[in-house]
Amino acid sequence: MQTQSIKLNKVAMIQVIEIEIPDIGDFKDIPIIEILVSPGDVVEKEAPLITLETDKATLEIPAPQAGVIKEITVKVGDKVSQGSPILTLETSNQQAEATATLPTTEIQSNSIDTAEDTPLIKPEIAPDLASIKNFPHGDIHAEVVVLGAGPGGYTAAFRAADLGKKVILIERYPSLGGVCLNVGCIPSKALLHVAKVITEAKDAEHQGIVFGKPKITLDKLRAWKESVIGKLTKGLKALAKKRKVEVIQGTGQFSTNHMIQVETPTGTKTVSFDYCIIAAGSSVARIPGFPYDDPRIIDSTGALKLEEIPKRMLIIGGGIIGLEMATVYDALGCKISVVELMEQLIPGADADLIQPLYKRIKKRYEAIYLKTKVTAIEAKKTGLKVTFSGENAPEPQTYDRILMAVGRRPNGHDIGAENIGIHVNERGYIQVDQQLRTNIPHIFGIGDIVGEPMLAHKATHEGKLAAEIIAGHKVVFDARTIPSVAYTDPEIAWMGLTENAAKQQGIDYEKVTFPWAASGRAIAMAREEGMTHLLLDKNTRHILGASIVGVNAGELISETVLALEMGADMEDISLTIHPHPTLSETILFAAEIAEGSITDLYIPKK
Ligand SMILES: Cc1cc2nc3c(=O)[nH]c(=O)nc-3n(C[C@H](O)[C@H](O)[C@H](O)COP(=O)(O)OP(=O)(O)OC[C@H]3O[C@@H](n4cnc5c(N)ncnc54)[C@H](O)[C@@H]3O)c2cc1C
Repeated sequence: MQTQSIKLNKVAMIQVIEIEIPDIGDFKDIPIIEILVSPGDVVEKEAPLITLETDKATLEIPAPQAGVIKEITVKVGDKVSQGSPILTLETSNQQAEATATLPTTEIQSNSIDTAEDTPLIKPEIAPDLASIKNFPHGDIHAEVVVLGAGPGGYTAAFRAADLGKKVILIERYPSLGGVCLNVGCIPSKALLHVAKVITEAKDAEHQGIVFGKPKITLDKLRAWKESVIGKLTKGLKALAKKRKVEVIQGTGQFSTNHMIQVETPTGTKTVSFDYCIIAAGSSVARIPGFPYDDPRIIDSTGALKLEEIPKRMLIIGGGIIGLEMATVYDALGCKISVVELMEQLIPGADADLIQPLYKRIKKRYEAIYLKTKVTAIEAKKTGLKVTFSGENAPEPQTYDRILMAVGRRPNGHDIGAENIGIHVNERGYIQVDQQLRTNIPHIFGIGDIVGEPMLAHKATHEGKLAAEIIAGHKVVFDARTIPSVAYTDPEIAWMGLTENAAKQQGIDYEKVTFPWAASGRAIAMAREEGMTHLLLDKNTRHILGASIVGVNAGELISETVLALEMGADMEDISLTIHPHPTLSETILFAAEIAEGSITDLYIPKK
C-alpha cells in the first residue's frame, strides 16, 4: 500500500491542528498529572488543557486558540518536553489564520485517486464552533446520527460505535441492510447461484452426465432466497444491539443543520446530532412515459420477487443489473431479449472483455439489440407491445413482462438536504470532499448518494472512513481503484485503468492477455472462453489496470486490486508463486507474458 501524507487544504474553512507543548524553559520529560479536557469539548483561547508537575511547580498548558478538541494523544503519567504533541484541535479558518505558524495536521492517505465522477467540493460553511454544543436538542440526541441503514450506513454506524461514539441509525424500513441486502447484491447472488447450478448441470451433458429437466418449485426457491436475506438482516440487528447502536425506524428529513425529523410508525420524533452521516442511497431510475401502473413492467426489485417465470421477457438496459437478471431468468427457462442503447453491453468495460459473454448469451437468448431504443410500450391484454427505433431495431414485439434496468438515481432530493443548505446537484448527488464532508462540515455523505460507482464495497469503505474522521482519525478517501464485477455467466471483472481510459488519457501503456484456453484449470472446468488482461505502464512496468472475463472473475480480480494498491510491477506478480491448477494462475501467466518468461504459451520473439 502506497502511503503518502497530504496536508489539509489551507483554504478549507475548518482545520485540524496539532497542539504541542510550548516553550517551558529548561524543563524536560515532565509528567502529566491531569488532563483537563475531553474529545468534543469546546475550548476558548487560553483555556487550560493539561497540567504538568515539575519538582518545583505545577504548570497548566493553555489552548493557543479556540476550537473543538478532536483527539487527545497523551495520558496521565506520560512525560513530555517542549514540542511534544498532546492533542488535536479543530478550528475555524479565521482562528487558524490567527495562528498560522502552528503546525497543521498531516493526513495519512493510502493512495492517490478518487472515484471517477465522484463530485468533490470544498466545505464552504465554517462551523460555528461556539454553537457546536449549543444547539437545541431533539427528543433524542446522539453524537453521531446516520441516515439510512444500507451497507454504507450500518458500516458507518458500527465503526463510529466501536470508536466510542453514541450512535443513532435511522432507517425507513423495518429491516437493516438497505438495497444491497434486501433487494440488491444478496438476493441477486442467491438467485445467480441457483442459475449456476441449473446451467452447470445442463452443460455436464458434454461430459456424459445427463440430468433430467429441472423441476422448479418457485415458492420454495423464493422462500430460500428470503431466508438468505433474513439471516443477514437479523445478523445486522444483533450487531447493532451488541454495539448499543440505537435503531429508529422511520423516514428522516433534515429540519435544521443539527436535527432530523423522523416520521416513525408511532409518530414524529426529532433526533439531534453533533455529527451526521447521510447514507440514504439510491432508487431505481425510470424512463418517463411508459405505463408503469401495469404490473407486468417490473424493475430489479420486482424481478427479485420472482412472482412468476414469464415465457418471454424484454430487459431494457444491457448494464450489470439487467444482465445479472437475464442470467437468472434465462436459467429458469424464460426467453430473454435485451435492448441496449449503446453499441456494446456493459458500456463502462472494454469491448474485448465483453466478447466472451456476448458470444455465450447470443446463443442462449432470443435476441440482443444493440444501438436500439425502446420508443413505446403499449399495455395490451395479450402482452406488452414494444416499439423500437435504431439501426438494429426489430419490428414491434409483444412480451409477457418487461424488466426496466436503466440504472439508479441518488436519493439526494428526498431527504430535505436542500432545506438546510446542503449542496445537492441536479441529478440528486450530495457533493462531498475527500473527507466525505458536505459543504456543512459536521455533516458527511457516503455511498450511492455521493456518486458513482454505485457499489456496496465503495459505500462500506466510505462508511468506515466517515466514522473514523468524526472520531478524529487523520484519513481521507483516496482509494486507487474500486473494482467492478458483473456476476453474469461468464463473470466480468475489472479494476484500475481500462484500455479505453488509457487511450483517452494518452498513457503509454502495454496490454498483455492470457487466454484461458491455455489454463489447465479452465480446460478441466470446460470453461476455456475466459481471458485475463493486465494493463501496465510501459516504462515502469507497474500494473495500471486488470480485467478478467471467465468463471469466478469476481473473486480473481481482488489479487490485482491489491497489486495496484501496493504499487506492484510485473516482476512482483510473475515471481509470486500461485497454486496450481487454479484460475488465479492466469494472472501470474499474464504477468509472465509481460516479463517474457511465460512457458505455458509459446510467444515468438519479436
Ligand atoms: C439488483 C441489484 C444488484 C446489485 N448488486 C450489487 C453487487 O453485486 N455488488 C455491489 O457492490 N453492489 C451491488 N448493487 C448496488 C448496491 O446495492 C448499492 O451500491 C448499495 O446498496 C449502496 O449502499 P448505500 O448504503 O449507499 O445505500 P442503500 O443500500 O441504497 O441504502 C440506503 C438506505 O437508506 C434508507 N433511506 C433512504 N432515505 C431515507 C430516509 N429519508 N429516511 C430513512 N431511511 C432512508 C433506505 O431505505 C435504504 O435502506 C446492486 C444493486 C441492485 C439494485
